[in-house]
Amino acid sequence: MMGTYPAFRHPTFDSRRSKLSSLQNNGAANSSLQGKVALVTGASKGIGAAIARELAARGAAVAVNYSGSKAAAEKLVAEIQSAGGKAIAVQANVADPDSIGPLIQTVVTKLGPIGILVNNAGVYEFGPIEAVTPEHFHKQFDLNVLGLLLTTQAALKHFDPAGGSIVNISSVAAGGIGSASVYSATKGALDSITVALSKELGPRQIRVNSINPGMIETEGVHAAGFIGSDFQKQIEHETPLGRIGQPQDVATAVAFLASTDSGWLSGQTIHAAGGNRV
Ligand code: NDP
Repeated sequence: MMGTYPAFRHPTFDSRRSKLSSLQNNGAANSSLQGKVALVTGASKGIGAAIARELAARGAAVAVNYSGSKAAAEKLVAEIQSAGGKAIAVQANVADPDSIGPLIQTVVTKLGPIGILVNNAGVYEFGPIEAVTPEHFHKQFDLNVLGLLLTTQAALKHFDPAGGSIVNISSVAAGGIGSASVYSATKGALDSITVALSKELGPRQIRVNSINPGMIETEGVHAAGFIGSDFQKQIEHETPLGRIGQPQDVATAVAFLASTDSGWLSGQTIHAAGGNRV
């Protein structure tokens, strides 16, 4: 007899359960970047390479921009493709205004309208005030600030009409670190740009946020001589989580900002620095 009764249904419980299941389903769908086109500048190495790998693993078709490291960019593309992902390598010096238009054109032609732009390409050159020269200034500002603005401007002409996400890779140095006045200034400018563009582009449903990493072990940081230095030890000492970061620590934070899991976040600067605030 029991089996002949219809299953007991409680209207309130069922409605809650169906809402929960739809939330869970949306959650799974949101963190996926399937069908999105992403451009990551400076992605042949370091933080940019980890970001490209992570976005591709979540389903985005990724353009891996590089300036000089062709072999490294092509190796990364091959790695993404052999894992079942979609990627292309595109050479462009983002500090050269003339090469930005062709970069965007190649991405759009080969992959489609851009829905995720990660402005990662950047240089860091430390030095005391006595070492500041116009060359030192322009090397960093022309890439870290002007290159970012012009890349964003060009990408916006071909952005997904549905909107999307721009993630700027800033630094905890935006707060100002000693013997790095110019580099700190580039990242401080970048944080202002993030807020300004979030206001300007919100009506187009384009969110703009930045990730501000602490020291991350990359090829660039090795080349700068930071690894194994007293500077690294000092940072580890000041970092609540007790270590410097790895590129993947930044990549997953960027993937969050790229996805609609962060759909209500715009104009934010998130410190990915193990709790360290410079
Ligand atoms: P790396 O020096 O390890 O890698 C730099 C990447 O940028 C390379 O792929 C390089 O490509 C590319 N690149 C350099 N110049 C240009 C250019 N003119 N046009 C296009 N691409 C270019 O850097 P990181 O991974 O350490 O740093 C990446 C970003 O993260 C930078 O914006 C940096 O300021 C920021 N950051 C880094 C931190 C760290 O501790 N590592 C901490 C906080 C912020 P190629 O070799 O082909 O030239």
